[in-house]
Amino acid sequence: MKKAILVGFLLALTFNVHAKQRIKHCGSSAKSEVREALNFVKNNLETIMSDTSGMTSKEKKKLRKKAKNVNIKCMDHKPVCKNHSDRGGVSRHMFNSAVVICYNRIRSVMGNNAFCALADTIIHEFGHTANVKKARNHNDGPNNDKVYRLGDAAEDLCNSMGLDGSIPRNSND
Ligand SMILES: [Zn+2]
Repeated sequence: MKKAILVGFLLALTFNVHAKQRIKHCGSSAKSEVREALNFVKNNLETIMSDTSGMTSKEKKKLRKKAKNVNIKCMDHKPVCKNHSDRGGVSRHMFNSAVVICYNRIRSVMGNNAFCALADTIIHEFGHTANVKKARNHNDGPNNDKVYRLGDAAEDLCNSMGLDGSIPRNSND
């Protein structure tokens, strides 16, 4: 019996790794905006990583993999976003298979710079799933550690490509 459970668990894990990357729980406009920001991150990942000082080859390798597989969840309707007024995103999902985005928070706080901030948040949270080294005071807010530098690099590139702008509200709030 125990063995059956273990096999099931391993199968679920394996399946998870190979499942198609998904964007979940976002309203339809928000979903297409997240898709666009995710594509920006994926299409420019090598540039973003090389613009981020101090990335090890191990971190890069893992981040390449994570960027292809990790799911993104809009969680504006849940306490994980609702109860944290300064949160744009968080990565704390089981097996690092998904990250949480507080989409409407990014939208309202960042205004006309929200699209690039969304890309920043996505790569930042992916960085956590890839175990990119963070500072001890990371959770106290923005600092210059590698995870924040990844986000900044994405945001700068996004800006320089003229992609920034406001984003439509997530109706699933
Ligand atoms: Zn972080």
